[in-house]
Amino acid sequence: RAKEDGRQRYNFYTPDQEAHFIEQTSIELLLQNCLDDNLLVIYYQPIICLKTGKIIGTEALLRMIDYDNNLISPDQFISLAEETGAIVNIGNWCIHNACKQLAQWRETINRDMVLSINVSSRQLQSIHFLKQLNDSIAAWDIDPSKLIIEITESLLMHDNHTNKEVLQSIDKLGCKIAIDDFGTGFSSLSYLMKFPIKILKIDRSFIRDCQTNPANKALIGGILSLSQNLSLEVIAEGIETTDQFDFILQSNCELAQGFLFSKPMDADLLTSRWEELEQACITEFMQSEHAY
Ligand code: C2E
Ligand code: MG
Ligand code: MG
Ligand code: MG
Repeated sequence: RAKEDGRQRYNFYTPDQEAHFIEQTSIELLLQNCLDDNLLVIYYQPIICLKTGKIIGTEALLRMIDYDNNLISPDQFISLAEETGAIVNIGNWCIHNACKQLAQWRETINRDMVLSINVSSRQLQSIHFLKQLNDSIAAWDIDPSKLIIEITESLLMHDNHTNKEVLQSIDKLGCKIAIDDFGTGFSSLSYLMKFPIKILKIDRSFIRDCQTNPANKALIGGILSLSQNLSLEVIAEGIETTDQFDFILQSNCELAQGFLFSKPMDADLLTSRWEELEQACITEFMQSEHAY
């Protein structure tokens, strides 16, 4: 209650603001303790080759588990982790453990797969980033060409020296750089020339109504022909329906991810379901009239 003289003031939150405030505070606490208390877990979503129906690799997608065993999605903690700087250590943990899993799959599934990892700008700009990436690669004897580093368009907007140098070093190391959520950010295409980009990931908002929305259809076609001319690979994100799958096949896109093929899941579950998922993809694929 604010006193009349105004010296002692309290902030009154609306119930919504209060809930938000509590949530932020508890997530911040979880972020502070997640490494010590083992609260992080990586889910993996298969990336499918549309020419063969096979799983060529996975994208690592981070989750946090609170003390009541609730799974917290990255949308709820990544941006806060970026603000506080916690993303630097968390991101390093993620790269290290995802590389470890990749090495394990090399033994258990007995096939070389790619691993795609999301890296936020604050993490990329950390002075330790390249060394940590190198360390993880060395620790698990990873072939760098199997690693994809996903960045966002907003990072390229800041055409600063650090970004350019780090991206060039990642490229020199042999890892591939992908632009995540391509098409949703800054729309200058000149950065495709300025930076060593190898892969574009078409955002799922364009996939969602690609059959009904002519603009999205044109945009996807545009991205695919652009990437063909620039020798870039394309991954279509968020394929949920067979119609979307057909459309993307018909558009000659080679790689895709989406709930139609598989949701992200923890490594053990994915390992146990690997063959079944792959068989289902191949079946889906054979049923399509547009299969290669
Ligand atoms: P993203 O990198 O664009 O990842 C794709 C998101 O779309 C994932 O959400 C995935 O579960 C979801 N998705 C995949 N297929 C489908 C589909 O068919 N339908 C629908 N509706 N959704 C689909 P998720 O796992 O919640 O991750 C959200 C975002 O959090 C990621 O978007 C990424 O930007 C960020 N993120 C996740 N893990 C990390 C990480 O380790 N580091 C950083 N910096 N960011 C991360
Ligand atoms: Mg991603
Ligand atoms: Mg994305
Ligand atoms: Mg994203």
